[in-house]
Amino acid sequence: MRLFDLHCDTLTEAMNAGVELKENKMQLSFDRGSKYAPWVQTMAVFIPDRFRGQVAWDYFVQSEAFLTAQLKKNPGVKRCRTAADLQNVQDTNGTGVVLAVEGGAVLMGDRNKVSALAECGVRMMTLTWNGANEIGGGCHEPGGLTDFGREVLPLMQQYHIVPDISHACTQLFWDVCEAYDGPLMATHSNAWPVCNHVRNLRDDQFREIVRRGGIVGLNLFPVFLSGQRDASLEDLYRHIAHFRDLGGDKAIAMGTDFDGAPMPSCLPEISALERLWEYLLARNMDENFVRGLFYDHAAAFFARLGG
Ligand SMILES: [Zn+2]
Repeated sequence: MRLFDLHCDTLTEAMNAGVELKENKMQLSFDRGSKYAPWVQTMAVFIPDRFRGQVAWDYFVQSEAFLTAQLKKNPGVKRCRTAADLQNVQDTNGTGVVLAVEGGAVLMGDRNKVSALAECGVRMMTLTWNGANEIGGGCHEPGGLTDFGREVLPLMQQYHIVPDISHACTQLFWDVCEAYDGPLMATHSNAWPVCNHVRNLRDDQFREIVRRGGIVGLNLFPVFLSGQRDASLEDLYRHIAHFRDLGGDKAIAMGTDFDGAPMPSCLPEISALERLWEYLLARNMDENFVRGLFYDHAAAFFARLGG
């Protein structure tokens, strides 16, 4: 089993807890994930809604420095910025880290910060967290795309940073679709018709992401899967089958949210993830598709990005 995971919060959680990415008691560590090599893990710098302005930017800088120091201690784990980097991880059966930011507040309303993020290797940015920021409204504080957001989208496109609309409110989602014609991603969101949660995607949103050649990562947080405190592998199956029925065969990936949310008892941490693989095969999903879900779809999307 190979793994390309589009979202986790392990980077900032580990930094705040003062623990190592190599070995820890968190939901994800380099040691435990490496059994899925070639393994590509997106690591988001999570900007909490209480951080705005300079505080948000400084927190990103601090987190990026933490990642750099951790990669120095783990020379087998490579930063993945380009399609060539991804190819190298694949060819060497290695581990790669893609840097992302969760929360457009990181820009502190300054358009020049987009190129600064790109220089640090950031390839995807969740436009908002749950609250509103300088770009637009989040799912708990709705609002449309701001003038600043309209300035930022083409810059993100220019610097090959993909807008991630997980956490966005529906108005922001559709405003972004109108203002921007490139691919979109929802790195860690599920299907609203299967579980009516504000963080999940309506069918028309999912279809629009597919139409643009974008990608959606499945989130393992039970509240987004079943609406309950726990969720089963069958709950995950239902979300996957729903997206497939909408024509998203090649657009579904994993977006675990490890260390960003409590996990279901069936998948408590990264080394348990192969249980889902086995379950989907036992439920008669074809192996080609399951391989795509865990790795190929996200890898193909990343390879298409350019930059
Ligand atoms: Zn999130």
